[in-house]
Amino acid sequence: MASYNIFLLPGDGIGPEVTAEVEKVAHVISGAGLAKFEFEKGLVGGSAYDAHGQAISEADMARAQAADAVLLAAVGGPKWADVPYEVRPEAGLLRLRKDLGLFANLRPALCYRALAEASSLKRELVEGLDIMIVRELTGGVYFGEPKEITNLPNGQKRAVDTQVYETYEIERIAAVAFEMARKRGNKVTSSEKNNVMKSGVLWKEVVTDVHKKSYPDVQLEHMLADALGMQLVRYPKQFDVIVTDNLFGDLLSDVASMLTGSLGMLPSASLGAADASGKRKAMYEPVHGSAPDIAGKGIANPIAMIGSFGMALRYSFGLIEAADLIEKAISDVLAAGLRTADIKGDATSSVSTSAMGDAIANAL
Ligand code: ATP
Ligand code: MG
Repeated sequence: MASYNIFLLPGDGIGPEVTAEVEKVAHVISGAGLAKFEFEKGLVGGSAYDAHGQAISEADMARAQAADAVLLAAVGGPKWADVPYEVRPEAGLLRLRKDLGLFANLRPALCYRALAEASSLKRELVEGLDIMIVRELTGGVYFGEPKEITNLPNGQKRAVDTQVYETYEIERIAAVAFEMARKRGNKVTSSEKNNVMKSGVLWKEVVTDVHKKSYPDVQLEHMLADALGMQLVRYPKQFDVIVTDNLFGDLLSDVASMLTGSLGMLPSASLGAADASGKRKAMYEPVHGSAPDIAGKGIANPIAMIGSFGMALRYSFGLIEAADLIEKAISDVLAAGLRTADIKGDATSSVSTSAMGDAIANAL
């Protein structure tokens, strides 16, 4: 039986509560003989700062580098609002993304049938929705230089951000999107604004080349980012995989997330480059934060965290069947009416974090 080393970073707030539920689910999968998981635990964020004054230690960075996958819950909270900038909780997260070279951020927007009422859109528009947004995560305007605010002689100020993309950065994110599409609906929508941005011109050119050279079997369409935003709320089911840059991906994935209901439902994956054997560095985390307002109460929704573990099985370990079974287990408990407080809607009662985790493990 294959064995995988998972570096688990529960982090802060509700992190430890939701990661405990992942271990239950992993236990069922091991019990069924599908794979073995070794969980090694580390500290990141405020909990790491409290323990040793850093947002993540060198020893834990080394463990993250060595692991088959990193599973992180969330960092931050009001307790650490005043710690020095370099060691603030988010610095741990950014260091992990940067040092592991996680350039591809995968954010599925999956609408479970039972939760279609919780969407911002009408049921028929979102029921069965299954989109994957592939966002470039380590380039573009968030990182390009110069990036500065300067004082002008006339007393005014001037702010500059720079959007920079090189061919290789677009090539590798496009390849991730096409590979993804082959395993899903076989369609990629590439999005930029080539009508006003040079980086958009290059983006479209490179994606078109990658498609022609290596993925002619996948359907490719190009859509301007503003039009795509409009189409996402008009008729989202037309999309399968969307690939876009760091900035547009940030905006569009937040829009897409609201189509599916609660923040407590959404997993994500961040992938690095494949090595010679095809293995990638990867980190899996829920889209939500540490939710300090409900931390310690045992009411957080563990589904985003369990779904993130499911993505690790799918994208890092190739355990597709097990990943499908986790999604089905989640879908089944929701269909049976089980709700944590955040997705309660009109239901008369809600269950605890631990009861939701138990139910998913049992359904599995
Ligand atoms: P971050 O800056 O880390 O992304 P945030 O400010 O976006 O954090 P969250 O911590 O994600 O905020 O919380 C936003 C709201 O969503 C809070 O009211 C929180 O309680 C709720 N929330 C987030 N995650 C969950 C969850 N897993 N279950 C239930 N409610 C959640
Ligand atoms: Mg947030």
